[in-house]
Amino acid sequence: MSIKAENIEYVYSEGTPFRTIALDNINLKINEGEFLGIIGHTGSGKSTLIQLFNGLEKPTQGKIFINDELVGENKKNLKDIRKTVGLVFQYPEYQLFEETVYKDVAFGPLNLELSSQEIDERVKEALELVGFRYQDIKDKSPFDLSGGQKRRVAIAGVLAMRPKYLILDEPTAGLDPMGRNEILDQIKKLHKNSSMTVILVSHSMEDIARLVQRIIVLYKGKIHMHGTTKEIYSQAEELKRIGLGVPQVVEIMGELQKNGFEINKNILTVEEAKQEILKALRRN
Ligand code: ADP
Ligand code: MG
Repeated sequence: MSIKAENIEYVYSEGTPFRTIALDNINLKINEGEFLGIIGHTGSGKSTLIQLFNGLEKPTQGKIFINDELVGENKKNLKDIRKTVGLVFQYPEYQLFEETVYKDVAFGPLNLELSSQEIDERVKEALELVGFRYQDIKDKSPFDLSGGQKRRVAIAGVLAMRPKYLILDEPTAGLDPMGRNEILDQIKKLHKNSSMTVILVSHSMEDIARLVQRIIVLYKGKIHMHGTTKEIYSQAEELKRIGLGVPQVVEIMGELQKNGFEINKNILTVEEAKQEILKALRRN
């Protein structure tokens, strides 16, 4: 089971003076169960790429396979793919419109012709997966919730479809630090406690470092770098050259090392940094 992209090219506004090559020669495979980060500047092609993964858009050139099935073959196939691949758009809370949280989360499953009992189960499960207590939240108006909570409700709406792959486009954009942490912690738990494949799209190095196992760096529509989180962050100079930078703790550890501290450079979190600095201090 996997998502595979083969020689993907995507062009906007073909045949006009505004022609833009958004994706160029993309080859990648996302394996079932993994936690992948896709990172890049604004305009690097992230959103375009993930919209190909559930058949929302068709590549100009190349092929996408979901579980070895070619995407876009026929309508039935597209419907199945949209159940398999759940896409949470940027600012998904703008799409909340029902008067209760329950109704909003039930919206997708209602189109699947399920029994009302099954819909209840799915709504409850999805809301609990994003950290709510079903009884406390189900009858609330989405509009009375905080920004982070609204976003979690929107994510629950996608989870209620029980996708195998969950793709989140900039899920922390525009949230305050508390909202960001709330969302990231929930996503982390979600991946840990389920067999779901999670693809996190972000331009934030801090967010990506905390969560993912493998990173794809998009730059000007191409895969510029590709490796485990530690491999990518050990190339701080190249990341800086393309204007992405590294998480602050990676930066600090790099500086300490340059200044003669004996420390391991492969540090991604503040906790790891603390342990490493304490060790170095004890040695001195
Ligand atoms: P990202 O999500 O990384 O910010 P996008 O996939 O949105 O990148 O954009 C990739 C490129 O495609 C950019 O150059 C952007 O300007 C262009 N682009 C995106 N959407 C459209 C569109 N609807 N029409 C024309 N060009 C677009
Ligand atoms: Mg985008």
